[in-house]
Amino acid sequence: MSPRPTPPEVDRVAASRAAIAARRARAAVKNAVASKERTASDVLAVGWADAASPEASLRVRELLTSVPTLGPTRVARVMAQLDIAESKRVGGLGVRQRAKLRSYLVQREGGVEQRRLVVLAGPTAVGKGTVSAYIRENYPDIHLSVSATTRSPRPGEIDGVHYYFVSDEEFDRMIEQNELLEWAIVHNSYRYGTPRPPIDAALAAGRRVMLEIDLQGARLVRQAMPEAVLVFLLPPTWEELVRRLIGRGTESAAEQTRRLETARVELAAQDEFDYKVVNSDVATAAQEVVELTTVPTAVG
Ligand code: 5GP
Repeated sequence: MSPRPTPPEVDRVAASRAAIAARRARAAVKNAVASKERTASDVLAVGWADAASPEASLRVRELLTSVPTLGPTRVARVMAQLDIAESKRVGGLGVRQRAKLRSYLVQREGGVEQRRLVVLAGPTAVGKGTVSAYIRENYPDIHLSVSATTRSPRPGEIDGVHYYFVSDEEFDRMIEQNELLEWAIVHNSYRYGTPRPPIDAALAAGRRVMLEIDLQGARLVRQAMPEAVLVFLLPPTWEELVRRLIGRGTESAAEQTRRLETARVELAAQDEFDYKVVNSDVATAAQEVVELTTVPTAVG
């Protein structure tokens, strides 16, 4: 192998300028936290929303050390408790570390962590609908969002309870008038969306809210509301998922194949989520999902 050529002088100059600019941007973030212009949890939210931001490239240790009330000994202890390695950058944290760090900081900042919006997603036929129906019946204090969809009702489905069944024109109108928190085309066919006004009203009234939506929708909610807790419902095994998918029997063979393929892709996304819940038993899975809307005990 030939030795790597030295980059031309102009590239090296540009690279070192970029490095200096990045260091300055990170220093500005730390100063803003130290002077209480910004909270550390706000820095996390920005860093997780944009992997190319200075917030994402900041080391967790440096971020924590900038918090005026945290001394170096406390920082070291908290990082050990949260299982975060010394060199980790904000953008490099895993989902569990993110959830734990966010809870810790929000509680420290004197707030009660806002975990009132839970998004339940997961692969096709994993039983999201059954788990959410169980929650609707057994946990009436949780507001379950009713989605709008352009597909037709299946037997037994009631307009306004299971979905708002709307025309394409009505769905277009909802998008135009900004009435949807998120929307997506699911299984390459119909459109599904989450009406925003009932959610805003429920949150304003202090209620906990749950959305049962697809993966694309979950990602959009995370962008729109970073405080949302994202839960991924897992099948006990892949074989069980296939059995449930075929067993439902309401779709054609072509539709089943398409849904199986979607499920495969969706399963691969589980690590993007804050929590995973295995749906072996509906009541247990529902209880675990509901428990995720309560605040964990503090560390540090
Ligand atoms: P189904 O037609 O079987 O009731 O639902 C198909 C898929 O649409 C499910 O994966 C369900 O989670 C998803 N879905 C239902 N409502 C919404 C919604 O409001 N937004 C998004 N993005 N997906 C939804």
